Amino acid sequence: MERYGPPEDGGADAGDASAYDLCDHCGRVVLIEDLFGALVPDSSVVHDSDPRLDGERVVTACSAEHLAVLVGVYRDRPFVPEEQWAAKVCRVLAERDDPVPLSEVAALSGLSEQQAQQGVDWHNARAREWRAQYGDSDAPGDDLAD
Ligand SMILES: [Zn+2]
Repeated sequence: MERYGPPEDGGADAGDASAYDLCDHCGRVVLIEDLFGALVPDSSVVHDSDPRLDGERVVTACSAEHLAVLVGVYRDRPFVPEEQWAAKVCRVLAERDDPVPLSEVAALSGLSEQQAQQGVDWHNARAREWRAQYGDSDAPGDDLAD
């Protein structure tokens, strides 16, 4: 089971949740200063606000061994450009309530219209697969407009 609180036998920083993070491999709670970290490529990730950091995931681990496992997992995960473009499109659309023309979505997400369209197609194909497997309720996202 993962633990989200600080260790009960914590030191001076015990009780300050910001002083801790979880090992992404085993879920152990670790003092920030004792964490091992790495940046790994991950096409499913876009940064909240800085597009220059898109496609990279920060992984943290309790030990060099667990960091090596995590780096290996992401090294073996295919980097799918269409997945990255879909994530960029979703970030733009998440800020909008009204329908946005594809050309505007592309411009706002730093993509060509063709890339934005391929991202939309990729997203919609995954959404259809998800509905085929799990049904309509609690779908992770509606189709993006074609
Ligand atoms: Zn660990």
